[in-house]
Amino acid sequence: MDKTVFIALMFAAERHANQIRKGKTALPYINHPIQVVATLVEIGDIQTPQILAAAFLHDVLEDTATTPAEIEVVFGKEILELVQECTDDKSLPKSERKRLQIVNAPHKSYGARLIKIADKFCNVRDVTRDPGIGWDIGRRREYLLWAIQVVNGLRGVNEALEQAFDLLAHEGLAALAVLDE
Ligand code: ZN
Repeated sequence: MDKTVFIALMFAAERHANQIRKGKTALPYINHPIQVVATLVEIGDIQTPQILAAAFLHDVLEDTATTPAEIEVVFGKEILELVQECTDDKSLPKSERKRLQIVNAPHKSYGARLIKIADKFCNVRDVTRDPGIGWDIGRRREYLLWAIQVVNGLRGVNEALEQAFDLLAHEGLAALAVLDE
């Protein structure tokens, strides 16, 4: 593994320590960025160190007390910018943040698009197979439909990744429809 990528994994593991994922299995939070990187590598065949490092770090600004300056000092401006492109403005209401993800998707850089598609792939898989407590079928379907809209704005960067997302999202909607009967 590239040194920068490994340092990013260590940095993210430290920052997300003590956080758990929403699913019933309550996995450590770091499993999520690891899965996003695994998706980029295994499905998308992405090997660019800056993109993989930013993928490990993609939730540290949004979900931990990490500042942009800290990321810039350790990883430089290019990786910081990729992480910022994957970070929602938490001062905005949730509905507005979700709307902006759809609106802003087509304007993201190549690297940010890849990370965001892999992120949505992993989240759709979690919401379908291991949703958080309180995630009823309606809420899960709503999430999938929103994620599809975001990914539609990100398309055109990696055929394999986009096809894998499409398959997973459609399988997820079909599985939810069966549960709803
Ligand atoms: Zn994420």
